[in-house]
Amino acid sequence: MRYGEADRILHLYTPSRGRLSAIAKGVRKARSRFGGRLEPFFRLDLVLYEGRGDLLTVTSAETVAAHPRLREHGGALDGAARACEAVARIFDDGDPHAGVYHLLTNELVLLDREPDRAGRANSLAFRLKLLLAAGFAPNLAGCAGCGEREHMVGFSGAAGGIVCGACEANAFPLDEEAHRFMVAALGRPLAEAPDASPRALAQAERAIIETLEHHAHLRLRPVGSRA
Ligand SMILES: [Zn+2]
Repeated sequence: MRYGEADRILHLYTPSRGRLSAIAKGVRKARSRFGGRLEPFFRLDLVLYEGRGDLLTVTSAETVAAHPRLREHGGALDGAARACEAVARIFDDGDPHAGVYHLLTNELVLLDREPDRAGRANSLAFRLKLLLAAGFAPNLAGCAGCGEREHMVGFSGAAGGIVCGACEANAFPLDEEAHRFMVAALGRPLAEAPDASPRALAQAERAIIETLEHHAHLRLRPVGSRA
C-alpha cells in the first residue's frame, strides 16, 4: 500500500509472528536501497525494527524468491492474490502458524512453477488446507451429527461436516464427487491436488464458506468460476 510521498506499508505473513504490518521508508524513490524487492508475493528475508507504534520498520530486505513467472500469468497472479487474502482474513495479527506460512510459500512456488495450475480447484484445495491449519477442518469421515459411516446426503456447516439423512437439518446436498474432491485435497500435497467438475467444485466451495461462517464468522471472496 502506498503511503505518504515515497513510503509503502507492507502486509506480511511471517513464520514466527504470523501476520504483521511494516513500513518501508523511501521505497518508492528511484534510488531506494530496497530496489524492487518489496513487491507483492515476494518471499523475503527482512530485518524489522520494532519501535513503540504498531508498525515495524523495514531496515533491510533480501529476496528469497521473487516468483517472476507468476507475475506474467493472469490466472496465477489472481490465485496468489486470493491465497494471500484468505490467509490475511482468517488469521489475526500476532497469531502465528508455521504450517500456514509453509502452505502459503508452497502455493506461491506452485503458481510460479506451474501457472496453468491456477484456478478454482487449486484455490479450493488451498482453502481446505488453511481450514485444517486453523483447526476448522470439516469432518469428512462420517456423519458429523451421529457418527454414522454410510448413506451421507449433505454437508452442514453448523454440524461441522458431512451428515446422514437423519441429521440433514440445515444441510445442503453434497455429491459423492465433491466429497471425494475434499478428502483428496486435504490428504494430498497442493501440487497433487485433484480437479473436479464445476458442480462438485461449487459444492466444495459452499462447504468451505459455510464452515468459515459457522466457526470463524467470516466470509471469503468467492473463487469464481475460472476453470
Ligand atoms: Zn447422522
